[in-house]
Amino acid sequence: MRTDVVIVGAGHAGLAMSRRLAERSIDHVVLERGEVANSWRSERWDSLRLLTPNWQSRLPGYAYEGDDPDGYRTMPETIAFLQGYAGAIGAPVRTHTAVTSVRRAEAGYKVSTTRGEWRSRAVVLASGACNLPSVPRLPEPLPDTVHSLTPHEYRSPSQLEAGGVLVVGASATGVQLADEIRRSGRPVTLAVGEHIRVPRRYRGRDIQWWMDAAGVLDLRHDGVDDLGRARSVPSLQLAGYADGRPVDLNALTGIGVRLAGRLAGLRNGKALFSGSLRNQAALSDLKMNRLLDSIDTWASAQGLDGEVPPPERFAPTRIEASPPLSLDLSGGGIRTVLWATGFRPDYSWLELPVFDRKGRLRHDAGVVDAPGLYLLGAPFLRRRKSALIDGAADDTRELAAHLAGHLEATARPLRAAA
Ligand SMILES: Cc1cc2nc3c(=O)[nH]c(=O)nc-3n(C[C@H](O)[C@H](O)[C@H](O)COP(=O)(O)OP(=O)(O)OC[C@H]3O[C@@H](n4cnc5c(N)ncnc54)[C@H](O)[C@@H]3O)c2cc1C
Repeated sequence: MRTDVVIVGAGHAGLAMSRRLAERSIDHVVLERGEVANSWRSERWDSLRLLTPNWQSRLPGYAYEGDDPDGYRTMPETIAFLQGYAGAIGAPVRTHTAVTSVRRAEAGYKVSTTRGEWRSRAVVLASGACNLPSVPRLPEPLPDTVHSLTPHEYRSPSQLEAGGVLVVGASATGVQLADEIRRSGRPVTLAVGEHIRVPRRYRGRDIQWWMDAAGVLDLRHDGVDDLGRARSVPSLQLAGYADGRPVDLNALTGIGVRLAGRLAGLRNGKALFSGSLRNQAALSDLKMNRLLDSIDTWASAQGLDGEVPPPERFAPTRIEASPPLSLDLSGGGIRTVLWATGFRPDYSWLELPVFDRKGRLRHDAGVVDAPGLYLLGAPFLRRRKSALIDGAADDTRELAAHLAGHLEATARPLRAAA
């Protein structure tokens, strides 16, 4: 089978690219190993809601039209939204078609799948940035009494053994799971490394509204000093709960979660934590206040001060006098370790020399180091918002233009020869 462009993945990014290519009448197909929105169907926990408000999932040619723009989508609503998008744009999706290899071939790529082979002149990798949970390698196995779980495996507190839980990682996933599990009645210890604290609401509006309006999310890849660092910044400590409750560290200690420092190792059945918790929390408070300062400056410049409540500042993160430096995992008190330590993409099927020494894809803002190969959906790919649903509109517009240029340039010699 032949087409000009193969898009791998029918999440929002692959669908948005499909729409961009259709706008340019570029022949393409979207290959999806599961159903549309597969990641949201199969890799998320039951209670998850988007932490971005409904209005903030603007896709090319498609936006929220319901009566709750400031609400947060549940998983079924997210799946329905993306399924609706695929239908509305008539995306040529082939479901249950897993890409098993992508190789160079004459004038483009050979894409092997579980349902036959495709030849294309370009390939767009929209296969997601969170395919695999990142779990740190431990120097020794966890004690037999402790069940190890990743967020991809976790669905709800009811699946956990009775007893204590150590949640490792305090970004969006870790704080949400610590909150939910603690509320189910279990003792929870949260190992906290670098984290980004922001309030859910600020001066009467959602923090995402402020970051969007003030251009914080539009910061471009070529406008940051250290792009590698920008691409590894953790997700915000936010949740989209219907009651709007915060999930920052103060909220968690308020319901009885115990905080420890970053998990530094495991020895003789004991989890060892770094002593940096206080510093990490202070740094996070400082950065939050800097963000709020910049929002206040922007609000004043826009003449909004009379329209919204005055600036506010939040209580510093409370850290107990001597946070625990170790936790006995072998005594039976802790029955589950939940690894909220991040995610990474899976390109094991990409048989091309496009990886650096650390196994990361070599690309310039989504233009991969191989002719006609493109990447979507990665953190800070082209902008701060690139990994958000809302980031796909701008990124796909620009990368589709690049891709069209590639098709045009590589078609010319053929036409000339003809
Ligand atoms: C827990 C969590 C919460 C998030 N919350 C938000 C939020 O509130 N708001 C927000 O804007 N963003 C959020 N994100 C970020 C982001 O929107 C999601 O990661 C989103 O799923 C990424 O979209 P995508 O289209 O790039 O990838 P995905 O949605 O992961 O889609 C990739 C698709 O590719 C398919 N695929 C992968 N490999 C292959 C293959 N070899 N062959 C065929 N198909 C393949 C997968 O099945 C999948 O359907 C969240 C992410 C996570 C992990």
